[in-house]
Amino acid sequence: MNAQHADALQSFMEEIERRNPGEPEFAQAVHEVAMDIVPYIADKPVYQELKILERMAEPDRIVTFRVVWENDHGEICVNRGFRVQQNNAIGPYKGGIRFHPSVNQSVLKFLAFEQVFKNSLTGLPMGGGKGGADFDPKGKSEREIMRFCQAFMTELYKHIGPNTDVPAGDIGVGGREVGYMFGQYKRIVNRFEGVLTGKSLEFGGSRIRAEATGYGAVYMMEEMLSHHKESIEGKTCLLSGAGNVATYCAEKLIGMGGKVVTMSDSGGFIHDPGGLTHEKLQWIMELKNRRRGRIEEYAREFSGATFHADERPWKVPCDLAFPCATQNEITADDARQLVENGCRGISEGANMPATTEAIRVIQGAKNVLHAPGKAANAGGVAVSGLEMSQNSLRLQWSRAEVDQHLRSIIRGIHDQCVEFGTAADGHVDYFKGANIAGFNKVAAAMIAYGVM
Ligand code: NDP
Repeated sequence: MNAQHADALQSFMEEIERRNPGEPEFAQAVHEVAMDIVPYIADKPVYQELKILERMAEPDRIVTFRVVWENDHGEICVNRGFRVQQNNAIGPYKGGIRFHPSVNQSVLKFLAFEQVFKNSLTGLPMGGGKGGADFDPKGKSEREIMRFCQAFMTELYKHIGPNTDVPAGDIGVGGREVGYMFGQYKRIVNRFEGVLTGKSLEFGGSRIRAEATGYGAVYMMEEMLSHHKESIEGKTCLLSGAGNVATYCAEKLIGMGGKVVTMSDSGGFIHDPGGLTHEKLQWIMELKNRRRGRIEEYAREFSGATFHADERPWKVPCDLAFPCATQNEITADDARQLVENGCRGISEGANMPATTEAIRVIQGAKNVLHAPGKAANAGGVAVSGLEMSQNSLRLQWSRAEVDQHLRSIIRGIHDQCVEFGTAADGHVDYFKGANIAGFNKVAAAMIAYGVM
């Protein structure tokens, strides 16, 4: 980046930080995009005159609300709910709902901002949004989860709709929670309509939606490797997380001949040097989805596996890494370790899993293929978009049809990254490619609408 671009970036970021005090995650996400977009638009005056990037970094609106519910002991509990409607230039707001104690406005604004670019990359007509609550589902009974979801939707329903804003799941929100929220929406508005995605198959869900984010992260890795005449087969893979994204990422990797040696949760990671099998993965899914247990139990169940409390897996030697837990889970030290150990590719199942310094270390290495979350985990929202299409058509497509769409959408995202991110020496900067391609479509729509 030349000095003039660096100055422009600095003054843009100073204004972002001044307008959004105490929101470090949001500033980090905007910075990651602005690093590529500020130089890109430097010789395109229309984007600057119309303040397109400035407008993209300002949410259309943010709704915050009180969520009151009663626990099993008859006590009244108070949580805070949010919906960030970031940008609907190319379609209804679309993005997940997160239930986790760390949820705050900064985290949801970063996720909503990322979502705008991700949804644009899919090629489907979806704007960007994100929502959630600082509710901790851990240790709650089934009935408590149900009451919380109903209380949350009792306020949220006023702000969403199949042509307005279509939420889905994220951390702490899976099929069970989507079911409770959809049921409450339907009860209040007295209409059966596709207002949420990630629904069960019986009431309008799409095949492959649960699998889509994890599968998509693997398809993205496959695209990057095959672009460089390599493949997944026989490669040792590190995964973090043991939730929706991580488990289906592991399933697809095992199916394609990858050797998955780690998984994790917020208590630490397990290392199984022999590699997970489909049977072992099934055991993890049962542990997490039904018994709601901790990953450390894996090391007691399977000989040869070890548990590493309060640690992340990135020090284990690998060929490929799939961070699938949460934001900022790869630090600069972790990145150095990955590079030193010869890691060839990173596909981000999670949103913004690497810190800014970590990205710099990885990009500096030049030989690591690194797909950002907005490209690598777009499979989830892509199949959500397909679920919306199926709901509108009142049809349900087969597994093979949805999987074929998913693969071709991810291939399209990879091609856009290559188109906008390839340097003169042939090196592909997937971050740059994804940022510019995602920006272009939204910017064109915003310009068409005039100043608003
Ligand atoms: P889940 O709630 O199903 O699983 C999250 C996993 O990450 C759990 O194993 C959880 O462990 C672990 N985790 C969460 N927070 C932390 C933390 N602070 N430190 C260490 N581990 C943590 O969520 P998903 O799998 O749906 O989401 C994972 C990531 O993928 C998120 O970044 C999400 O935004 C992103 N994503 C998800 C999509 C989807 O379709 N679901 C779509 C696109 C992106 P524990 O159980 O101990 O909390």
